[in-house]
Formats: sequence, structure tokens, C-alpha cells
Amino acid sequence: MTVLRAGSATDVGQVRTINQDCVFASAALCAVADGMGGHVGGEVASTSAIDVLERHLGSLSSRVGVTEALQMANQSIVDASKNDPSLAGMGTTMVVATLMATEHGDVLLVANIGDSRAYLFRKGNVSQITDDHSVPAEMVRAGSLTEAEAKVHPQRHVITRALGIPGAVDPDFFELILADGDRILLCSDGLSNEVDNEEIARVLASISDPGAAAEDLVRRANANGGADNISAVVLDALVTDEHLDEPTQAHAIVAPLAAVAPPRTDVPSAPEQETFIDREEVPTPKKEGWYARRKRLGMPRILTVRLVVFLLLLGGVVYGCWYFLRWYANSTYYVTSQGTQLVVYHGRPGGFLWFKPTLVEVSPISTSQVLPLRLPTLQSDVTETSLRAANSYIANLHDEYLQSTASSATTTTTAPASSLPALVWHVSSAI
Ligand code: MG
Repeated sequence: MTVLRAGSATDVGQVRTINQDCVFASAALCAVADGMGGHVGGEVASTSAIDVLERHLGSLSSRVGVTEALQMANQSIVDASKNDPSLAGMGTTMVVATLMATEHGDVLLVANIGDSRAYLFRKGNVSQITDDHSVPAEMVRAGSLTEAEAKVHPQRHVITRALGIPGAVDPDFFELILADGDRILLCSDGLSNEVDNEEIARVLASISDPGAAAEDLVRRANANGGADNISAVVLDALVTDEHLDEPTQAHAIVAPLAAVAPPRTDVPSAPEQETFIDREEVPTPKKEGWYARRKRLGMPRILTVRLVVFLLLLGGVVYGCWYFLRWYANSTYYVTSQGTQLVVYHGRPGGFLWFKPTLVEVSPISTSQVLPLRLPTLQSDVTETSLRAANSYIANLHDEYLQSTASSATTTTTAPASSLPALVWHVSSAI
């Protein structure tokens, strides 16, 4: 036989002016609801949901019973939203724990919708029973976000399931066979966001009374910031082989609700507003990028400032070398014969590295218009420093040819042509 002993506490926190959480602890059921939506809508939603559960206490010791009660709570919130425009969009999370008798003995049945949680404290260790129905939690389960990143994700307040959405409710269920000494903690996110598992474990290990433990957890959440409403229900499991004289419904022995601090009026700043959306509206987790994955895995950054500077310097050196080689390759022109024509190329004869010479001019002077003795020189290419110098060289060759022709004609009538024509032009400097 399993006997439960429970205590609870709830508080408005350090920032909000209204406590929209609602807790419940009875002989048959313990629950935490975290309302949201509008100035008063959240409080109405969480209270309405708890009221519906309370009216159906006698049928909550099974999955079907809990699901039907949650469905009625959901419809109650939806109807209230439709009837009062000021309550439109309100909703609530819900985490429920109840004992369920089975042929194998008593089982603790836990159900949750939203991001209110159930924890198991066993042998000094705390483990989370429920899965949060929130955008970052879905991304963590999909493997695209780490637990640490989820805590600071901009959509950490956006939940993906809640009571108050038209349609069928979709709770998660968990069944636990409790051992003697086990403790269960139900809480809203105002507690789980402020108190980590280690601190929860220290409290549950050191404070035996469940009500006092719940109060201390709420006090610590307030001390750590109290950014949201804070609620906690602590259940102690007493497991024996004997049957009590009490009926089954008396398996749960509930401690009185802990004193609740009055709402604070010294509000330091506007709280972050929690919202909820349909599951269909949940954005598809983004595919994790290469950089984000390296950051998540703690891998060192590849692209550092030092590396960028080095690459820029290396690029500058490579570009400088390429620029110099291109300048050297194109710093000259050369004259050569191509067929029967004299032509001018830009570049170095035969090319330089991968820079090939380009034809820039075909001279009107043909090889028959220069002295034959100049042809071997032309065939070995004559370099000049500029296009003008190359043209001047061709003009000089042609002038030489004309003078030689005229001299030969004169010599034919006055003297024997026994000598070579004089050079009357100069060869341009190659520099
Ligand atoms: Mg909350």
C-alpha cells in the first residue's frame, strides 16, 4: 500500500502583481496550474481548471478519468473565453499527480500539459518526470538546442500545449511505482526557472515536512529573483505491506496548504508575459548551422582575428607578386615578321610564365620593303620599350630601304655599286 502525504505553497513572486498560479492538494489529487493570458485571464483559467478537477475527484484514478476531467477543464476555459472578450486567449498549464490502484499495486499517475513540472526525489537525487511542452524544450528533444541554450532561448516562455485551446487535450502520462521515502515535487516554471535540481535536492533531503519543504523552495525561488509566480506541491510516499483501515480514497494524506504571502505592490518592472500557442503553430526547429554546432560542442573558433589578419597579409603578398610579374611580362613590345608583314606584339617574345604576348599592330610595311640583311634580325624579334618605339623602328627600316634603293639608282649611272648602304637611322634603345 502506498500512502501520500502532501504539502504545498504558492507565492506571487517578486515581479508580478497577481498570482495566476493555482495549487490543489486533496486526498485524491495534487495539482499545479499556471495560468496565462491578460490581466485576469490567467488567474481565471488556472482556478477554473482546478475547480473542474475538484468536481471530478471521484473519477480521477485512471488515465481515462484524468483525460476526461482535463477535457472538461479545457472546454470550461474555452467557453469562458468566448463569453467574455476580456478573457479571450486565456489558458493554463496543468500538472497532476494521483494514486491509481492496479493489479500490481498502487501506481502514481502523473499527467502534464505545458511546462509545469513533476520531479522525483529518490535516494538524494532529483530527476524530472515530465517533459516540458515549450518551444525550446521541443528543440532540445529534437537535438537542435542544448539545455543551456534553452534556458536563454527567446521563446522559452512560449508553450506548445495548454488548456484553453479548442479541440481535444493531449496530456502526457507517466506511471511510477513509488518506493518508501520517495518524494514527488509538482511545481510551476516560476520555481523550476529559479531553483536548479541540486538546490531542490538539498531542500528535499534536509526538510522532512512536505509543507515546510514546499515553503522553503518557494522562498528560495523568491530569493533567486522571483520573476514569475511560484508554486510547489511536495508529496511524500509511505509504502507499506499493510492495508490501512481507511478506504482507498484515504491513501493520500494531505497537509494543510502553506500560508501564502500577500500580493506585492512594489513592482520593480514589467514581467515577461508567458504566452501559449497551438501545437500546429510551433515553428519547425531550425537546422543547426555549422558555426552554432561548433559553438555548442565547445570547439575552438577557426576564424579568429589573428587568422583573418594573416590571410589578408598573405593575400596582399600574393597579389603583389602577381601584379609585378604581369607588369614585367607586359613591359615590352617587339617587332617581328609574320609571313610577309611586319607586326608588333605586346609582351615578351615567346611569352613569360603564363602571360602570352598579344598582337597589337600589323604594319603596312612588308618584308619586301626592308633590306634583306635586316630580315634575320626581325625573325629573332626586336624588343622595344613602347609601341611608339616599335613603330619608329619599322619606319627607320623602311627609310633605310628607300634610301638604299635611291642610292643604287644613282650609283648605277655614276659609280659601281660596291658598298652596303649607310645606316641613316638609329636603333631604339631597349631600355
Ligand atoms: Mg509561470
